[in-house]
Amino acid sequence: MFRLLKGFGVTLKFFGSKKFTILYPDEKVEMPERFRGIHRFFPDKCIVCNMCVNACPTDVITLTGKPHPDNPKKKVIDTYNIDFQGCILCDFCTEVCPTAAIVMTARYDNLSSYDRANHFKDIDWLSSNEVYGNYTIEEEVDEDEAGEEK
Ligand code: SF4
Ligand code: SF4
Repeated sequence: MFRLLKGFGVTLKFFGSKKFTILYPDEKVEMPERFRGIHRFFPDKCIVCNMCVNACPTDVITLTGKPHPDNPKKKVIDTYNIDFQGCILCDFCTEVCPTAAIVMTARYDNLSSYDRANHFKDIDWLSSNEVYGNYTIEEEVDEDEAGEEK
C-alpha cells in the first residue's frame, strides 16, 4: 500500500510540470546548431574537385562532372549522389568541401523506407532537401555570404 501511495505521489508531483514529449511528426524537435543531419547540395557552388568523394569513409558519394560551357578547362557538376544506406553522417564530406557546396542540415528523419533503392538520393533530391529545426538553408547561406565578404 505504501508503495502504491508513493507511486501516486510521484505522478502527482509531475502532473502539472512541463511536458517533455512532442506530437511527432506534426511537431519537430529543434536540433542544436551544429547537428549533423541529412545533406543539402548546392550545384552552383560545386567545382567538381572530388574531395568529398575521397574523404568519405564509406564510399557512398558518387559524382560526375562535365566541361564548363564558358571555360573548357573548368568543370561543372553533372551528377551527384549519396547512398544513405551507408552514410554514417560523419561530416567529413562537408568539412573538406572548399566551397560549402555540400552541407549538413538540421533534418534527421524521412529517410526510412521498405525499399533500399529509396535511400539512394540524387542531385535533384539533395539540392531541394528542405530543412527544419532551428535554422534554415537561407539563413545558413546568408551567414556563408557574410563570411565571404569579411
Ligand atoms: S557524412 Fe560521412 S559517410 Fe556520409 S557522405 Fe559524408 S563523408 Fe560519407
Ligand atoms: S561537393 Fe565540394 S568537395 Fe565535393 S566535388 Fe563539389 S566542391 Fe568538391
